[in-house]
This record gives sequence, C-alpha cells and structure tokens, in this order.
Amino acid sequence: MPRILIAGFQHETNTFAPSLADWAAFTRGDSFPAFSQGRAMQDAMTGVNIPIGGFIDAAKAHGWTLLPSCWAGAIPSSFVTREAFERIADTIVADVRAAAAGGLDGIYLDLHGAAVAEHAADSEGELLGRLRAIVGPKLPIVASLDLHANVTHRMLREADALVSYRTYPHVDMADTGVLAAQLLARRLKAGQREPQHARRLPFLIPLNAQSTWMQPAQDLYAALAELDKRHGTVLSFCMGFPASDFDECAPMVWGHGEHAEAAVEQLYALVADPAQWQQQILPAREAVSQALALADRAGKPVVIADTQDNPGAGGDSNTTGLLHALIAQGAGRRFPGQVALGMVFDAAAGRAALEAGVGAELDLALGTAVPTFAGGLSDPPVRGRFKVRAVSDGRVTLKGPMMRGVTVNLGPSACLEIDGILVAVVSGKKQLLDRELLRMVGITAEAMRIIVVKSSNHFRADFTPVASSVLVAKAAGPMAADPGDLPWKHLGAGIRTRP
Ligand SMILES: [Zn+2]
Repeated sequence: MPRILIAGFQHETNTFAPSLADWAAFTRGDSFPAFSQGRAMQDAMTGVNIPIGGFIDAAKAHGWTLLPSCWAGAIPSSFVTREAFERIADTIVADVRAAAAGGLDGIYLDLHGAAVAEHAADSEGELLGRLRAIVGPKLPIVASLDLHANVTHRMLREADALVSYRTYPHVDMADTGVLAAQLLARRLKAGQREPQHARRLPFLIPLNAQSTWMQPAQDLYAALAELDKRHGTVLSFCMGFPASDFDECAPMVWGHGEHAEAAVEQLYALVADPAQWQQQILPAREAVSQALALADRAGKPVVIADTQDNPGAGGDSNTTGLLHALIAQGAGRRFPGQVALGMVFDAAAGRAALEAGVGAELDLALGTAVPTFAGGLSDPPVRGRFKVRAVSDGRVTLKGPMMRGVTVNLGPSACLEIDGILVAVVSGKKQLLDRELLRMVGITAEAMRIIVVKSSNHFRADFTPVASSVLVAKAAGPMAADPGDLPWKHLGAGIRTRP
C-alpha cells in the first residue's frame, strides 16, 4: 500500500493590500478551515469541497495509506509574514522528514499558488524546493493549485505534476484534488515523470474578466477538456492573480502527458488572444443608477459586484463607496427593505448591535476609509442612525455550490438598516459568495430588488441563479479591477499589465 503524505498551504497574496497574513490569520482561517494537524486535519477535511477533501476520498479508492501533516489557509491579504510561512513550512518539512524515515511513496500538497511571503516571493516554489531537498529527485510530489495561481518555473520544476481548478467561482475544488490523485497514480505507475510543457501569457488578465460563467473563459475551459480527451493529457490554465507584485506574476498554461507539448500549444493559441479579455466596469454611481432602472422592471434582484473591496482578493470588506451611492440615490426609499449590501467587516458595529439587540437604534460611523492603490483614502464611514433589524452569533453553514458544507464563524453579526437599506455587518472578513451569509442576519436574497456583494466573481455560483442581472462596479478600494491601475515594481520584463 503506497504511503502518501498530505498537507495544505493556501494564501492568495495581494501585495498592494493593507493587511498582512500573520500566524494568527492562519490559526483563524476566516473563510478557510482553521489551521489543523494530523488525524484531526484529515477528519476535518474529509467530505469538504476543497482540494484535499477530494484527494482524501480518491486516496481511499486508490487504496493509499495517508499520512496527514497540516493544512493552513488564510483569507487573501497582503504578504504572508516570515513567521507564518516558516511555521507552516517547518511543520510540513518535519513531517516529511519523519515520514521519509518510516517509508514514504509520495507527497500531495493542496496549494494556492499565489502566496508571496515577506522573504520568499515564490512561496510555493520555496516550499516544494525544501521538500524536494529532503526526498530527492525520485519521490513523486504532486500538487493542486487555485485557478489564480501565479505558476512559477521553479514550481513546475520541483513538482512532478501540478493541476489547477477549471472553474471560477471555484466549484470544482474537490474535483481538482481527485485530478491530483489521478496524476499521482499515473506517476506511481509509470515510475518516472511524464513529459511536461508550459507556456506563460505575456499579459495579466483582470479578475472580472476571468469568470468561467461567462465568455471567453467558459469556452476556453471547455476547449481545455476537449484537448485533454484528444491528447490523453492533464492540462491546466491558471488565469493568475493580477495583484501579486513579483517577477513571475502572470497567467500560465501547462500540461502533463505524452502529447503535452501539442496540447499546450493548441490551448495557448486560444487563450493568448488579448482582445477577448476586455471588460466592462462601471463607476459606483453609474452602477447604482443602472441597477435602479433595471430593478424597476425586473422580477428578480439586480446584483452589483463591489469588486475593488473583495475580501477574496485582499480587500478588507469595509469600504463604503457603494453604500454612499445607494443612500445618495435614494435606493432604500424607492425599495424599502429590499436593497441589501454585504458583508461589511466592522467588529465594533457588530458587537454594538448584538449588545443593543433587535429593534434598537444606534448612532454609528460604519465602515472604514482605507488606503487605496491609487493613493489617498477610500470613501469615509457612513455616519448616521442605524436600526438593528437582526442579530446573529455569526456561525453559519454554507449551502451554495462553492463551499457547501463549510461552517464559518464571523463573530457578532447583524442586519443594520439605514434609509431603507439593509446592511449585513460581520466581525470576521468573508466574501459574500453564499446566500446563507445574508440569511444568517435575516436577509432573504431572493426577496431583494438590489444586492451589493463585496466579491468579484465567486458570488456568481450562488447568486446568478436568483438574479435578473449582474453589474460590476468600481468604488474606491484596495483591489484594482484593472491591473493596469496598480503601481507595479517587480513585474517581469515582457509582461503587460493590460490584455
Ligand atoms: Zn481563486
């Protein structure tokens, strides 16, 4: 029975964002499961829609014995601190060393691929390199990656095989763990690495243009699956995370298999046309006025993505540009109790609401003016009298397609009403990607006329089915919708910041 060590390290680093990913962020996890180790880690991940969950299931089917190390994930933010990276890497390194002494046949890593540590820009390449140094060139190491990985040449060199998600929203995380297990099984059977081929795109792709629920990505990933069928390859196309300022930040196409080169070149020819990646983003005021016009006619909610404060991309989920725009245009007076916005990360407001109770009125300054990539600050807090509509302890189990079954704890939470607008306030950062997060504070998404979500694309999996239309808005915030707006310093020569 092959003995396989499993471990996970997930962070998406927006080097332009305000908050660091320190050790405390990994122990909390926030939108990820909290740090866990050994048997407890394996139990916690079993059946969950994240890659290691899928890998654990597949390993059972393959008859492998699993040696669980640790799993560490933190919500996207600025750099992973040196301390956090070293603690996580040390844990995995120690477990690999112990396992290697007792008999080890392979390693599987559940990686994001866009982590940048304070002292190691290519964090995953560094981690893979340290493990490779222990186990030598012959032991198989396979990893799964997020579709937003900025894949480096070192990662491709140190690992025997890498495979990424094929959906954004990431509804196929566990499936990607299963694919990684397939690659490991192929590698174990062959006794040597399969041929590999890779091509990097010469431009960054904006996040909002990446959704596989829309074109061009929908057709491109369908083509990827077709090419795999035709060539017997396992191809990946990472569209990349266009806010990690280091020399290898860029989209990458690669594949494994006898015909990897032909398959990768064919896929590259399809994805590398820059014209298809152009996108439509509205200023906040314009998005609200379009939404109001659409909501008059629509029977279902109009969703506005507040993309530049997406906590899934390094925002702190606390900016107020869209709330100001809703108030200024009287959205809540037009549709009282049917305009919602979330999730605003404001622990003081959440605690005050929980203490005051339902029905209370609170004078608050909600939200935060944060430094933006453009220089200066985002909009000021919204000052006024808020009515507490509902409160919650912030514990909720998600039901949407992306993170079904995952329980999150966002601390003291509430629905606060101002001017007829319902604001979901939480004490932990979480991207609004699941309708249960609104239901937690008494907001029924389907009954709304307008919903503002602090998200770029992940909301689409659970919200698009109940929405009449989706608009993408650009309010002042820390995450640039257009990578060309960012003050890049370290990007590799030959990589353009716009398609
Ligand atoms: Zn991602």
